[in-house]
Amino acid sequence: MNPYTIFSEIIAGTAPSSMVYEDPEVVAFMDIRPVTPGHLLVIPRVPARSLAELDPALGGKLFQVGQRLAAALRESEVNCDGVNFFLADGVTAGQEVFHVHLHVIPRTPGDGFGLRARATSPQRADLDYLAGSIRGALQRNPGIS
Ligand code: AMP
Repeated sequence: MNPYTIFSEIIAGTAPSSMVYEDPEVVAFMDIRPVTPGHLLVIPRVPARSLAELDPALGGKLFQVGQRLAAALRESEVNCDGVNFFLADGVTAGQEVFHVHLHVIPRTPGDGFGLRARATSPQRADLDYLAGSIRGALQRNPGIS
């Protein structure tokens, strides 16, 4: 499947962007449809379509740059009392652009942004069962550490 998306064009400079940060591995720019003013996207230059395709070291770099941007947002003229990170991996998770990207979303009271979720209250045995299943998957996949 073609790994190139609009984000590859932004990296190449052939599509417009409002760039905020660039280094040899990662760039960050303004989201064109911000959920709050100052909404940023941090992306690797290498076009990984999903977390499974993303070099874990680059995943760490996305988070590091996200941390710096969160601090910068708080220092900037953007209204920012808090910050949410959000990453959609897969269609079901809401991913629309198939080039891994970390959303960095500045928050203010009453800004209307939020995840719709209904928390449940499972039994400890159910939590333990799933924890065991996930531990098993970690042990079977040495690539996950
Ligand atoms: P996601 O649903 O997590 O895949 O998010 C994709 C994000 O990319 C959305 O928030 C879009 O508004 C944003 N987006 C799509 N095209 C562009 C673009 N050309 N420049 C900046 N942001 C974009």
